[in-house]
Amino acid sequence: MLSTMQDVPLLVSRILIHGSTAHRQSRVTTWTGEGEPHRRSFAEIGARAAQLAHALRDLGISEGSVAGTLMWNNAEHVEAYLAIPSMGAVLHTLNLRLPPEQLAWVANHADDRVIIANGSVLPLLVPLLPHLPAVEHVVVTGPGDRAPLAGLAAAGVSVQVHEYEELIAGRPTSFDWPELDERAAAAMCYTSGTTGDPKGVVYSHRSIYLHSMQVNMAESMGLTNHDTTLMVVPQFHVNAWGLPHATFMTGVNMLMPDRFLQPAPLAEMIERERPTHAAAVPTIWQGLLAEVTARPRDLTSMARVTIGGAACPPSLMEAYDKLGVRLCHAWGMTETSPLGTMANPPAGLTSEEEWPYRLTQGLFPAGVEGRLVGPDGAILPWDGESAGELEVRGPWIAGAYYGGVGAEPIRPADKFSEDGWLRTGDVGVISADGYLTLTDRAKDVIKSGGEWISSVALENALMAHPEVVEAAVVAVPDDKWGERPLATVVLAEGATADYGTLREFLAGRIAKWQLPERWAVVETVPKTSVGKFDKKVIRRWYAEGELD
Ligand code: ADP
Repeated sequence: MLSTMQDVPLLVSRILIHGSTAHRQSRVTTWTGEGEPHRRSFAEIGARAAQLAHALRDLGISEGSVAGTLMWNNAEHVEAYLAIPSMGAVLHTLNLRLPPEQLAWVANHADDRVIIANGSVLPLLVPLLPHLPAVEHVVVTGPGDRAPLAGLAAAGVSVQVHEYEELIAGRPTSFDWPELDERAAAAMCYTSGTTGDPKGVVYSHRSIYLHSMQVNMAESMGLTNHDTTLMVVPQFHVNAWGLPHATFMTGVNMLMPDRFLQPAPLAEMIERERPTHAAAVPTIWQGLLAEVTARPRDLTSMARVTIGGAACPPSLMEAYDKLGVRLCHAWGMTETSPLGTMANPPAGLTSEEEWPYRLTQGLFPAGVEGRLVGPDGAILPWDGESAGELEVRGPWIAGAYYGGVGAEPIRPADKFSEDGWLRTGDVGVISADGYLTLTDRAKDVIKSGGEWISSVALENALMAHPEVVEAAVVAVPDDKWGERPLATVVLAEGATADYGTLREFLAGRIAKWQLPERWAVVETVPKTSVGKFDKKVIRRWYAEGELD
């Protein structure tokens, strides 16, 4: 028997219409680096999104075409987030920190026809354009010298260039948004290609809508129109963790840092604009902590912070607790939209009892199912001890990667199980009460003499040392044991600790056989395009003898 309920498709345009009417007064505030930040209401954003859709339609963007963005987090990027999917086209957020050749590969693979770019990233985009044959139009917005565009014609590049404001000016402020199939492509994002070519994940209207509702639930980020979220996580990194769509749905004010992602402007933004929530990867919070330790700022408005993308060192969580800022751990990946788990402790616990729960990656929400699979393919029990690879499934989890124009989606066997679950490449345990603890990424775990050493456990223990600013541990080849850990550390200014002291410090926290024999002090831990430790680079440094 079928239900008697209305079959109304879950579309991004419904989020756009709802947010710009019910929450018309909520605001997107964009940091400008000087003077007053720029403020725009949700009603204005909705009207301008309609104008942008009219403009893009005139540029030849139709249902199913792909329109790229090469932008920081700002109001215009939110407009693109809403307009492009709502008109039936596909929003492709380009990661402006990718190496240029990867960026070109990704834009060509996705078949971007139009690219909306911030003026400040033209020095990156312009040299790429001769390598992007499908791009017909570039739309430029925001501050930044337009001079790099001047030589395009001379270089034989036939792309047409438009100013965003001129392009949308005078166009109708409403649009007859099409009634699309909710399973149609709405947005795409490529993984950062830590291994091999980047892989394209294509989100549907349905997945975005359902993910937004989950993000908004009290058990997840649970924000309301009384809140302001500081969106540090870039809109080109898994849709800023789904926040632009989710916040537009519930009227949460957005504070957008644009290109001002350094600790000092972030600290100033927080003190002046008083966001109640923020979202970013651990390296951002490390940097901000160093900044406010040196030059104190009031961060107390920001009662809650969502931290994810990499494991959060317990020492970092403790340090922010002391500043009145509660870091809440979340796990996810490009393939999971990304909300996969969130570490809210069970009700009724003291803060001491909550602590071990806060260190986990957290619980799966109702829309995500998780399981652990052992090396022999057996499903493991949730007993807090059996460690295996995490597999997940759900309505906002990828079931395949984009195959390219006209090609079938691809389902590599190392990424998808035979029964359709996503193989995350993350290794961990799940407790009897459902809390996931990740011990490592499968490719980062150190396999020493048939036993596994968690690089994350060593890093967390090292970062608890007061003189260690950052620590990254990688596996290096060893004749006797197969692999052994190499610890690279960034020391605080004026630090006196040597390797012996650090090893001794670890000895109280880590089993003796796991302690690293190889050490290196580095100036900074190399980071990926989304701010995570780039262990590939450390392994290469070691192989090339640069760490002796
Ligand atoms: P990439 O794989 O290119 O780094 P993603 O941003 O999709 O791109 O990264 C997802 C990975 O980040 C996860 O598979 C996991 O290894 C790691 N990760 C994300 N959140 C957490 C977390 N809270 N704790 C530990 N690892 C995390």
